[in-house]
Amino acid sequence: MKITNVKVIFLKKKLNATMAISRGGFNVRSHTLVQVETDEGITGLGEGVGNAVLVKSILEGQMAEAARGLDPMNIEMVREKLLEDQVYFERKGSAVCAASAIEMACWDIKGKALNVPVYQLLGGLYRDKLEAYVSDIYWEKDLVKMAKNAERILKMGFHAIKAHIGRESPQSETERVKALREVAGSKTPLMIDLNAGYKPLEALQAARLWEPYNPFWIEEPLKPSPIRAFTTLRSRTKIPIAAGENEFGLEGFKQLFDQKAIDVAMPDIGRAGGLLETKNICTLAQSYGVEVSPHNFSSGVLLAATLHLMASTPNTRWLEWDTSGNAVYEELFIEPLQVKDGFVGIPDQPGLGVQLKKEILEKFSEKV
Ligand SMILES: [Mg+2]
Repeated sequence: MKITNVKVIFLKKKLNATMAISRGGFNVRSHTLVQVETDEGITGLGEGVGNAVLVKSILEGQMAEAARGLDPMNIEMVREKLLEDQVYFERKGSAVCAASAIEMACWDIKGKALNVPVYQLLGGLYRDKLEAYVSDIYWEKDLVKMAKNAERILKMGFHAIKAHIGRESPQSETERVKALREVAGSKTPLMIDLNAGYKPLEALQAARLWEPYNPFWIEEPLKPSPIRAFTTLRSRTKIPIAAGENEFGLEGFKQLFDQKAIDVAMPDIGRAGGLLETKNICTLAQSYGVEVSPHNFSSGVLLAATLHLMASTPNTRWLEWDTSGNAVYEELFIEPLQVKDGFVGIPDQPGLGVQLKKEILEKFSEKV
């Protein structure tokens, strides 16, 4: 089989309200998808997660051409050709996101060609449903609104919630952490995502102030580098530290593990280098005793890849789940996903189990 064409599809969804996090807010969700076509008529979907405009231009400028002629069944070869040969000048960044999209689509094609779901190609089912944590509690000036959103999610039957905090000082955010813990009760895991909003000293203060409210983890308390700042923070707090959504490749994650920077690794399949690279990152994490909760905050294509990876990989836990309705998400699945009591089922169709229907394309497709 040969790749004959890589079509880049840009989906955009305007939000009703701004989603606020420590670094600001956004009012549009964008997804950069690829549809990889082959000489045998089988097509596959993939997604590159990053700066949508940059990822799109790298795909159209060079990566699509480099993929043409490769056999999508030979994923190790595709991985090397796109991830090693094509990123000579850019070891990390949008080029890796673009390669990740094509690599992901190859798994979709291979699953369809062999008539098996992608999890079968990744080791088979280790579990048949995934426990979700819901990550769409956004920062609000009015903490009652934040608490109400947490309440809404818990009423839907989910067992774990994540709030985006860190717009204000650690002292002033403490009341939000307290209010959320009150709503969640003592047993529900409450994750805090700082979206890289604090300086090292602020993060240390935050950890000290929030320890009494038992956050399940603090995510991206600091900017992705220097890694050493994570190591210092982690050595001085009891709260587990999660990060990695901005990290690339096996080598990038090895640095995080070697420097004892994190308790939970969060590779994004559409950014870290694709499914095979992320599976390798999970295996490496296992050898360091680190759990993996993949970053999963984009369209249903990334979600599908994340479901197949987590279903087949023992040291993964906590599926990131978005109930906001802001992304082009569950509507991309061929069969509706089973979501029950906070658990999400695994697609069973050949490939990733997603499709881009004409209606969806017409409704959300937009030119950059
Ligand atoms: Mg995050």
